[in-house]
Amino acid sequence: MKPAPFDFVRAAHVEEVASLLGEEGDAARVLAGGQSLLPMLSMRLAQPAVVVDISRIEALEMIRQDGGAITVPAAARQAALLNLPGLTETHPLLAMALPWIGHPQTRARGTVCGSLAHADPSAELPLCLIALQGSVTLRSSRGTRKVGAADFFQGMMTTVCADDEMIEEVLFPARHQDAGYAFREFARRDGDFAIVACAAVVMPESIELTVGGVDDIPVRRQWGRLEGSALDDALNEMAWSLNARDDQHANARLRRDLVRSMGRDVIEEARACSD
Ligand SMILES: Cc1cc2nc3c(=O)[nH]c(=O)nc-3n(C[C@H](O)[C@H](O)[C@H](O)COP(=O)(O)OP(=O)(O)OC[C@H]3O[C@@H](n4cnc5c(N)ncnc54)[C@H](O)[C@@H]3O)c2cc1C
Repeated sequence: MKPAPFDFVRAAHVEEVASLLGEEGDAARVLAGGQSLLPMLSMRLAQPAVVVDISRIEALEMIRQDGGAITVPAAARQAALLNLPGLTETHPLLAMALPWIGHPQTRARGTVCGSLAHADPSAELPLCLIALQGSVTLRSSRGTRKVGAADFFQGMMTTVCADDEMIEEVLFPARHQDAGYAFREFARRDGDFAIVACAAVVMPESIELTVGGVDDIPVRRQWGRLEGSALDDALNEMAWSLNARDDQHANARLRRDLVRSMGRDVIEEARACSD
């Protein structure tokens, strides 16, 4: 199938994007890396009248580091973040999760912000945003607003980003120096979206587990430093509380089993790094 006809605008600066989105509303779609939008256009799952390409806006390419935090603007590719010098030390969770996104070819074009905007429940970057409690800056002709991770994702492939807004950048806060981090995922083949993905952050007083691929959005839980059967009970409660589904990739029972087993594994791995 071929895309329905659309007008194509290669934006030169962010104000142009904001103004076009303001004029066109839901008739316009931002094109970043195209790794999700182009298939959607080809399958006619999206039929925008105007496609606004932001990928050549230089001001949106440079990843910034400030006081340990990382800010990734809208045109920065997933590969650029993965290859950022020192990422393993400053943001170990991102360094562990990024290689699981698709393939080198898709990461070379796909953007970090595009993945957040797309909001696939199995995608690694939305999971990291929630696990690290980052924030997203939205831009429109009305101005900018900053939205915390907990409020950004509204449901499956749905965010608070309005039709006239774009994600301008995402901020991943500085790591907790005394925390341990771990990430794992289960997928049928290398490069596939996760069936279940788990990220753990273990601090001296708390354990946090974020799970993707099970509910409509990644879900984060925080407990004290549980161990043994108390941790098993907490993981079991979490597994049953999620809206696990049967689909062509896995049934709900496998997804709940993975929350329990992989959840425990990442927590123990992160605990070992934090002690
Ligand atoms: C073979 C293959 C395997 C893949 N495997 C994985 C995987 O395992 N895990 C995973 O997470 N992803 C995977 N992906 C998807 C990939 O990560 C995409 O890069 C990502 O989902 C979207 O990023 P993009 O920059 O390509 O966005 P685009 O495709 O350009 O856009 C995606 C959507 O987000 C919107 N959008 C993009 N940027 C912005 C912005 N700044 N502001 C507002 N809206 C915006 C677009 O309008 C569109 O609706 C895979 C893709 C392919 C082709």
